[in-house]
Amino acid sequence: MLNNLKTHQAISYLADLQCSGCGSMYSAAEVHTFCPDCQSPLMANYDLSTARRYVDRDEIHSRLKGMWRWREVLPVLETQNMIALGEGDTPLLPLPRVGKSLGLTRLFVKDESSNPTGSFKARGLSAAVSKAKELGIRKVIIPTAGNAGGAMAAYAARADMRAMIYMPKDTPNANIMESRIAGAEVILVDGIISDAAGMAGETARREGWFDVSTFKEPYRVEGKKIMGYELAENFNWELPDVIIYPTGGGTGLVGMWKAFEELEQLGWLDNAKRPRMVSVQAEGCAPVVKAFEKKASFCDFWTDAKTIASGLRVPKSFADSLILKCLYESDGTAVAVSDASITETQKELARAEGIFAAPEGAATLAALKALVQQNWLQPDERVVIFNTGSGLKYLD
Ligand SMILES: *Cc1c(COP(=O)(O)O)cnc(C)c1O
Ligand SMILES: [Zn+2]
Repeated sequence: MLNNLKTHQAISYLADLQCSGCGSMYSAAEVHTFCPDCQSPLMANYDLSTARRYVDRDEIHSRLKGMWRWREVLPVLETQNMIALGEGDTPLLPLPRVGKSLGLTRLFVKDESSNPTGSFKARGLSAAVSKAKELGIRKVIIPTAGNAGGAMAAYAARADMRAMIYMPKDTPNANIMESRIAGAEVILVDGIISDAAGMAGETARREGWFDVSTFKEPYRVEGKKIMGYELAENFNWELPDVIIYPTGGGTGLVGMWKAFEELEQLGWLDNAKRPRMVSVQAEGCAPVVKAFEKKASFCDFWTDAKTIASGLRVPKSFADSLILKCLYESDGTAVAVSDASITETQKELARAEGIFAAPEGAATLAALKALVQQNWLQPDERVVIFNTGSGLKYLD
């Protein structure tokens, strides 16, 4: 059931929030975190049947570039609350030389490194900080493996909000510096992101900070889902055959899958065939791969997580069951790659194509190679790998 049904053209068609676990409904006009009954992420619903009547996909194409040109399917109701730094509309680049070496004729990279703060975390934090501002929140807190903290600090600064960040002490220096220079309070933690999450959660409860941890509020995934809308537009309102995504918390994977569902309901796709979704993780932290191989519906906590790809050092995502559901429903798969292969493909992408990818991004090429070897792909399929950030952020 949708509240707030719109009967006219609107800035946003946001309707309400729904628990992804038990289906309970929550008002989108109030501050919510995750479902108090079943501890699952909340997802935003839009009144898409009305949007379908009033919003023209080709008009969106002619707007000023950036994520917020999709405002009708983003959660912010007033334009003055959209905190933007130029996120989104990243290039979809063909990879002719790498493709040729793998026998693939239609290989692309969605290169997210040109986002503000150098990673695709900007998309999610732009949406979450904007909506928090609209709801009257003044203090945001986050546990992070690095890039989410830097992005939150930047958007909080621009929104004139206070920011507190818990990071493992081995987080890349760039993340610590970009956060501090934007005025965020940074606390370095002995441990990994799950340890940081515990401490951030406690401070949030004690001091009244709003926790924007992955999937513990409903709106970061809304920003990330726009990658799915952009891909649909890039492929002329069809979807690619395969999407290969480096999975930590899984915001982008779950978000794009949500976008494809919305695009179908909006009637914007000319061909309803959905991509096969591939989750890439590091051998030293592969809870999704392990669960997928067991056909499980949730992940076990991965102890002793270790990998150079800090964004993949997530021992258990809060949205583990949603990630797995997307892999099963899409007929996709999950692949673990070694740190050595990541270092190798990072060089290859830079030398053959001129792209200095983050280790997480390079991991998707390492996974693609394994899939080609298993004949999991046809040579003429449209394959998109994701470079989620810039390699420049990992120099110490
Ligand atoms: C956070 C991060 C990831 C993982 O993204 P999720 O959407 O949380 O799975 C991948 N790559 C980089 C560079 C990141 O910062
Ligand atoms: Zn619930």
